[in-house]
Amino acid sequence: MQKKDVLFVLSIDTEEEWLWDEEFPQDDCSVKNITKLPEFNEFCKSLGIRPTYFVDYAVAQDELGQKVLSQFASEKSAEIGAHLHPWCNPPFFGKTREAESHVINLPKEQVEQKLDALTDLIHRNIGVRPKSFRSGRWGIDGNTLELLASRGFSVDSSIYPFYQNDFFSCLGAPTVPYWPSFTDALLRGNQRTLAEIPITAGFSVSRFNTAEKIHGALSKPPFSWFKMVGALWHTKLLRKIYLSPELTNSANMNTLVDTCLKNNHQVIHMYLHSSSLIDGATGLLDVDEACERIKSRIAAVIKHLGKQRNIKFCTISEAAIALKNVSYSCASDCSPEVLL
Ligand SMILES: [Zn+2]
Repeated sequence: MQKKDVLFVLSIDTEEEWLWDEEFPQDDCSVKNITKLPEFNEFCKSLGIRPTYFVDYAVAQDELGQKVLSQFASEKSAEIGAHLHPWCNPPFFGKTREAESHVINLPKEQVEQKLDALTDLIHRNIGVRPKSFRSGRWGIDGNTLELLASRGFSVDSSIYPFYQNDFFSCLGAPTVPYWPSFTDALLRGNQRTLAEIPITAGFSVSRFNTAEKIHGALSKPPFSWFKMVGALWHTKLLRKIYLSPELTNSANMNTLVDTCLKNNHQVIHMYLHSSSLIDGATGLLDVDEACERIKSRIAAVIKHLGKQRNIKFCTISEAAIALKNVSYSCASDCSPEVLL
């Protein structure tokens, strides 16, 4: 039987490395991880992957960063998007604490000035006007979406599904590509200028909405006192999974791929941080030979996905174009999804 098509997107937050439990760096950011990008991009090419690098200010102002990323752009092996880290992206408006590290918590005027500084720098140093965007530390609101659209962006990827903390929430947002409202970024709207393509996240069971309700309830007291979510994970009854090789091993990513395919997802969107490509830089993936580990996990997922679907590799903007006018219904209890 002919395999169905699926789009595969890999996006990389391309940024400075620092220990994430320490203060946010502003000046003299270390971007040693950029030395790993040529090798990583070759690996992607060998599998057919067309990566999207969301580049932040620290990398765009680095000499090697400029050289490496402009090379990817000129050979058209990857897309260059923009990634806004408020703490190291001028102009500055005081010390960045947890709240201000999220773009969503900044006044519109500050976001505007920082975004313009970032896109001008990327244009000047890498030779590209970015069309795609991801906020630092996730989360997005209608004001920023409208601003992005006014600056010629056509895709945002700042939604981190099934997640909230004290500073922002993505709970309730669609888990598949959608046209977000400029008044509430977590809802579908009527505008057709800027698409949202979230990263792939979900559960080990295909009824994602039901799973989220159970998972959310068991994360709160009194159940959290008994560490119910951990127990569900260890017994494999219910796992919340993010499609990232720096967080998740290939077996669990493959489980997520299977539940997404069962839900008829048209795009599988994996992500990682460039800083994870060097050992011990962020504290996130604490293993030796982290780059090799990440590459082998990606290869395993591609192999698994390829057995079930005809994979169309694309950058995030290419995915947005391909998804236009495609519509389908979810197989499970997620609401009917109309794609871009
Ligand atoms: Zn980042």
